[in-house]
Amino acid sequence: MNLHDKEKQFLLQTYKRLPIEVDHADGVYIYGKDGKRYLDFLGGIAVNALGYNNARVKAAIMAQVNRYLHMSNMFYMDAQVDLAEMLCGLSGYSKVFLTNSGTEAIEGAIKIARKWGSKEKKTKLFALSNSFHGRTFGALSLTDRPKYRQGFEPFLPDVDHITFNSVEELQRKIDANTAGVFIEFIQGEGGVNVVSEEFVRELYSLKRKHRFLVVADEIQAGIYRTGKLFSFEHYGVHPDLVTVAKPIGGGLPLGGTLVDASLEQVLEYGTHGTTFGGNPVSCAAGLATLKELSEKHIDQHVTKIGNYFRQRLLEVKSRHDSLVSEVRGLGLMIGVEFKTECGEIVNRLMGNGILANCTNGNVIRLLPPLIIEQEHVDIFVDVLEKTVQATFPDAPVKEKSLQN
Ligand SMILES: *Cc1c(COP(=O)(O)O)cnc(C)c1O
Repeated sequence: MNLHDKEKQFLLQTYKRLPIEVDHADGVYIYGKDGKRYLDFLGGIAVNALGYNNARVKAAIMAQVNRYLHMSNMFYMDAQVDLAEMLCGLSGYSKVFLTNSGTEAIEGAIKIARKWGSKEKKTKLFALSNSFHGRTFGALSLTDRPKYRQGFEPFLPDVDHITFNSVEELQRKIDANTAGVFIEFIQGEGGVNVVSEEFVRELYSLKRKHRFLVVADEIQAGIYRTGKLFSFEHYGVHPDLVTVAKPIGGGLPLGGTLVDASLEQVLEYGTHGTTFGGNPVSCAAGLATLKELSEKHIDQHVTKIGNYFRQRLLEVKSRHDSLVSEVRGLGLMIGVEFKTECGEIVNRLMGNGILANCTNGNVIRLLPPLIIEQEHVDIFVDVLEKTVQATFPDAPVKEKSLQN
């Protein structure tokens, strides 16, 4: 039986998988067992910030593997403490609770918000429409995608959603009973939607009036993805809680809930915990990743390449404005919205040696390793334009075509 058939026989069929059997991966390329090479604009869904096969991350993992894999959180573990020190040092947050995943980091933030609010009977939690915060019941209660929610009701009580960027709804729904508002400042799964400055300004004005916690979900947009450590830095705000995951473990499972100094005391001994969270091998990989990213000044690189990338995509949009409706995002978190479903374009891109993701039906979401260079962007843009033309041969092309 081949791998595809075996997978169908033994794994619950919850994932639509790509028809590629990967042999290995290196840098920004993935190599199939059939010898085919793919330029990676998926980045393991924003996990592989340093691409593949990074020597420093591998060495850090092996060094920890040779010491011990697991001890339990009953022990002091230097890998955990070193990672936490670096995370706090880079971010200015005071402490972190380490988890295995993003959804668990969100659960931690929900618990902190509820506990913090309990004294004043603040219980209400809000998230934005079209948001994605994870799949466990707390996180799923915040997530606003019908496809992920249908049939799983009832959800956590006192959780509601505010229409994306609707200042009016924000004013109407938030009150003195609000404990927390969860925000992806740039939505990932929802199609790379950027929260407006006006919305954030109003949120903070309501926060001063009603006192509630702002939780920034930086699981996808954080760790330099948008050119800054966290995407909320583009807005000049300081959320009370920040959730991180995806790239933070350098490819191993790791997440965290970062808290502002004012919230350090909310969770006391025994009120929260996890067996595997903060696994020392994951922490060693995460620390090496953070060191590599910050020493490489990856923030500047991401800003520069991201600006170039968006500029080139805007040129594609201007030539194909009957097909492409918008190019948006920050740094290397970019969405190209089409006026039609983009599944077929993404399939054809794969045939042409490029991996990208179609999210929310009609948005090609680009989350390449942060180490991509201009030459890779040029390859992507040229192949994308040819692919779009081949997929929609009858659509008009404005000004000069790519053949000049
Ligand atoms: C992926 C993601 C999550 C969930 O993280 P998991 O590690 O899959 O549990 C939560 N929030 C955002 C913004 C994400 O992109």
